[in-house]
Formats: sequence, structure tokens, C-alpha cells
Amino acid sequence: MVSALSLAHNSRLFQRARYMKTVRSPRILTNICVVLMLMACGEGSDMRKKAELKAVEIIGNAATDRMPDDVAGGFHKIPIEVKELAEDVYQVQGIGNTHLINTPEGSVLFDTGIAIQAAEQISKLKPFATGPITHIIVSHSHADHIGGVRFWKEDGTEIIAHREYAEEQRYLTELEPYLHQRNRMVFPWLPETLPNIPMIKYGGVEPSIAVDERDYEFVLGGTKFQVLSTPGAEGADNLSLWLPEKKILFTGDTLGPNFPQFPNVFTMRGEKVRKPMEYIRSLDKMIALQPEMLVMSHHDHYSGKDQIVAGLTTIRDATQYVHDAVIQGMNAGKTVYELMEQVTLPDEMQLTQVHGKVSWAVRSIWEYYATWFHFDTPTELYPVPVRDVYADLAELAGTDALMDSASKAVDSGELIKALHFLEIALAAEPDNERALRAQMGVYEKLLYHATHVVENNYEKDYMRALIKNVQSKLGEEQ
Ligand SMILES: [Zn+2]
Repeated sequence: MVSALSLAHNSRLFQRARYMKTVRSPRILTNICVVLMLMACGEGSDMRKKAELKAVEIIGNAATDRMPDDVAGGFHKIPIEVKELAEDVYQVQGIGNTHLINTPEGSVLFDTGIAIQAAEQISKLKPFATGPITHIIVSHSHADHIGGVRFWKEDGTEIIAHREYAEEQRYLTELEPYLHQRNRMVFPWLPETLPNIPMIKYGGVEPSIAVDERDYEFVLGGTKFQVLSTPGAEGADNLSLWLPEKKILFTGDTLGPNFPQFPNVFTMRGEKVRKPMEYIRSLDKMIALQPEMLVMSHHDHYSGKDQIVAGLTTIRDATQYVHDAVIQGMNAGKTVYELMEQVTLPDEMQLTQVHGKVSWAVRSIWEYYATWFHFDTPTELYPVPVRDVYADLAELAGTDALMDSASKAVDSGELIKALHFLEIALAAEPDNERALRAQMGVYEKLLYHATHVVENNYEKDYMRALIKNVQSKLGEEQ
């Protein structure tokens, strides 16, 4: 099984290596340079916008053309097609979906997809707009939702975002170099360096209407639009849109990309904290609406009130269950590691963990309340991590003995213990081939687990990135 996995894996790595060559190829770089020069000439004009659209399309094609199908959830393989979801309601899919709602007095957009697909989404969806774009509602700060705003916006278009949107954008922009390198590990289609184009980088969207916990309502052409503050799952600035007459709820990423799923309470990519109880309140707000159609900004929509309400209720109950179990365990004197291992969802609350993982939520909730010092050992208070004694430990124990212990741990299924032994050995001998191969073997087993046992897309792509790093150390990168 493992060797079949590693064969399949090698072929995926091979494809990814070809993709990286494509991104770096002189032809692509020349195209990008030409387009960027064009942009410099046409500051603020339609010409500049066209040039930007072209630039991001080239970058997008280079990045996604040769990507394996299942990387980062396979979003890049979703066909960019328009669907009529209800009368006057359209969706164009892609890495992120864009939604259009027509009224006799103008058209409203909810989310605008990712910039690298904006050109194609706009060319396919715009013909369905029956009037000017009067409002664009952005569900939150992430690049796969705000990427088309700049290109859809017309004179007088209102941009509606959450009150916390500006703060989310501020820190995401300031931390961009840090976050980009980590995002590339789990979204490997991202280029090595981002061109300085608004909305490929953060920024570039200036909201004109800020929505807070009181929500925001407007009527356009006789259609009521209720913009709801629903923070807690994908950031502090999540908005949803409710069309009361049609009973359609647009959730952006408030429910994540799949439905129903266990939420990503703190993403391992690294962003600010997400608040579990705030999320539960957002879910209660959505359940009270009794939606008959659920439209998310990724993948297909869902119809049927009973199915939707049942899904929302399971998400709420599962989040509450894990939250309460952590509080209980903390008060009972358990360690975070014990709780990560012991807290699991009851049978009636089973949800896919493809986006958010229960054990990571446990740790997130713990640290949300108690922050970083766990009172495990005073060494946590000082800037000397246990890693600093690894090389000395390896010398005392001998790298061969450490690798024997690692291999015994693998045999007994204790993969993380094996990784600890190997990290100690590698601290003394970073190029030790036996240790590197053993480390790669453990990563492959963890990848198998994240693919076939408890599926999680971030864990999968992170393991793939780690395997690629080891292959490169071994000189085996293709
Ligand atoms: Zn998204």
C-alpha cells in the first residue's frame, strides 16, 4: 500500500516540478513583465484594469495548468460555468464563486472569486446582469472572495463589507510575507512571489458600507437584501446574505467550502484567532432563518430546508460539543495533548474534517482561552526551545540508536514519537540519508492517514510539501 502510495505521490511531485519550471520559464516571465509595464502606463484607467486582468490570468494559468487534480482540495479544476440557481439569481463557479442577483433597478454581487479567474468569470457572468452593478457584498477578506471587486466595480457601486474587514485587511497585508510562505505550503499553486497587484496581494477593496452585529438591510427594485454579520469561522469579518422572499442564504465561507463540515477553528496556515462561541451565535442566526437554499462561495448549492437546517444544527452542536469538552478537560487538569487525543465527535455529530480538524480545534480552543503558556514546564517561559539540546542528545545517544528507536516507534504505530527521534538525530547530522529516508517514510504514512483515514486537505498538502523538501535534500527532486 505504502509503495503504491509513494509511486502515485512521485508522479504528483513530478507534475508539480514541471509546474514550477513553467512558472519560472522566460516566456511566462516576459509576458508578466510586458503586462506590468503596460499597467504602469495606464494608471487608474480601464486600460490598466484590462492589463491587470491579463496579468493575473497569465499568472493563474501558469500556476494551475499543470497542477495535480487533488491539490488544495482540487478547487482549481472546478469548471468556470454559470448556473441559474433561482429566478434572477446566478452563480459562476471557480476557485471561489461569484453570485449575481438581478432586480429591476440594478444588480447585486455577492463575492467575486479569485483575481486569477476574474477575467473568465466576468466574461461569462456579466452578460446575465440586467442592470448596473449597484452593490458588491464581500463575504470576508480572503483573496478567493475579493479578487474581482476592482474589475466589477462601476461608478457609484456600493461596496459592502463587515466592520472588521479593515482590521482583517490591515494585519493580513502587514503579515503578507510571513503568511504567503506558509500559504504556499497548503496552496501550492501560489507563485513564489506575488506581483504587486491589488487583490492578488491583500488590499485593493475600499468598502463604502460597514456592517456590524446589527446587520444591514437594503431594498433594491422591490427585492429585500439582508446582510448578516456571521463572524467566527473564517475570520472576524464574515458576512452572509439572506434573501427573505426567496429564502436563499449565501454564506461565503461562514460554513467553509463543504457542507456540512467541522469548522476550521483557527487555521493552521496562521491567521488571527477565530472565536468558537461567536461562531455558534452565527450558526444560531442562520438556523433561525430556516433557509430553503444554501449557496456557499465554493462548490455547488444545496436545496431543501430540512437537510440544510439539519446540517447547520450538526455543525453548531459539534462545535459546542468540542468547545465544552475542552473546557471540561482543562478544568479536570488534563493536558492539551491528552485532549487532542481524547476529544472526538459523538456518532450523531460526525462531520467531515477535510477543512477543520477536531484535534486542532481542541488546541485552538485551549489557546483561545489560556493562550500560549500551558504550565507544562517553566522552559516554555524562555527563548530556549527543547530543540536546542537535540544535537547534544544525539551525540549522547548516537544517531544509529535514535534511528533504531524511530524505526521501532514506526513499527508500533507511534509515528509522532518516531518523528521526534528523527528530528533529534537530524539535528546532529542534517544530511544523514537513513534519517532523511525514515523521516520521508513517516511523512508518507501521515499523508496516507490524512488522505484515507481522517481526511484533511491542509494536512495532506503540508505533508506533500514536507516530502518535497526531503526529496530535495536527498537530491531526488524532479
Ligand atoms: Zn474561500
